[in-house]
Order: sequence, then C-alpha cells, then structure tokens
Amino acid sequence: MFKVKIPSVFFHFIFLITGFFLASLFAKEKKMNQKIIKTDEEWKQILSPPVYQILRKKGTERAFTGKYYNHKEKGVYICAGCGNELFHSSAKFDSGTGWPSFYQPIAEDRIETETDRSFFMIRTEVHCARCGGHLGHVFPDGPLPTGLRYCINSLSLDFRKETNDK
Ligand code: FE
Repeated sequence: MFKVKIPSVFFHFIFLITGFFLASLFAKEKKMNQKIIKTDEEWKQILSPPVYQILRKKGTERAFTGKYYNHKEKGVYICAGCGNELFHSSAKFDSGTGWPSFYQPIAEDRIETETDRSFFMIRTEVHCARCGGHLGHVFPDGPLPTGLRYCINSLSLDFRKETNDK
C-alpha cells in the first residue's frame, strides 16, 4: 500500500493555528466582560448632560418623554454609557408606565441590581454591569415568563436596529 508521510511540521502548524484562534476568542470574551471605570469628570466629558444625569447621578426622565417607551423596532438596546448589549426588543412590552419596559435582560450578567432606599421607598435599582451606569429599577409585577418589569430610562439606552436578514 502506498503510504503518504505527513511531515510533523504540519501538525505543529495546525496546533499553533488552533492555539491562536482559541486565544483570540478568549481575549474577546474577556474584553466584553471587563469593567469600564472612569472618573466622574471623564463621564461628564463623554456624555450629554441629560444622559450624564441619568447614568451617573441616578436621575429619572419624566414619564412619556423618552425616545423608547413607545419604540417598537426589532433590535438590541445597548447601554448609552458603554455599549453593553442589555435588552432585546423581543423582551420589551407595553407597561403603560411611560418608560421602556422589559421582562428580562439579554443575559443575567449584563446588569446588576442593588437596593435603593431613596424617596422613602424600597426599590431595586438596576445598573449596567460593565460601566455601572444607572438604568432604572426592576419591579416584581411584570409579565410571564419572568414576572419582572425592568423599568428603564430611554436616556440610559441607545438602539441598534436588527437587519432583515437576521
Ligand atoms: Fe454600561
């Protein structure tokens, strides 16, 4: 039988290529989860005053004034501070509150919560897990399947429209 001898350098080459590929994937993943830490002064320079007020000073926009409460396009809502992909339009529902409302984030690790005792209420504050930007609050009166209502300020979000071929 004729036997082809494959030089061992070929296997070394494959091994190296695979290694580089895995390393680049890992680096990308790590970058996405990396925290973004900036000083207050730096945020002030990057963000417009209304967005800064919401994201960094935990402000709340007036109901029915935001650009996304009645927004129905298909796509992804990202953090206005750092671009972190937070909510998909498929999890958006009309809560009637005047703020964009979602029943779940794209992934659990995209957001973090903390107890908010301001204004004589106990509420659960929601912020971006990557940059710490204030987004809104989460309430236990949302629709199924989660029963949660993430009540989010339009000003804390940007929208990335989904193309039709997706
Ligand atoms: Fe962010």
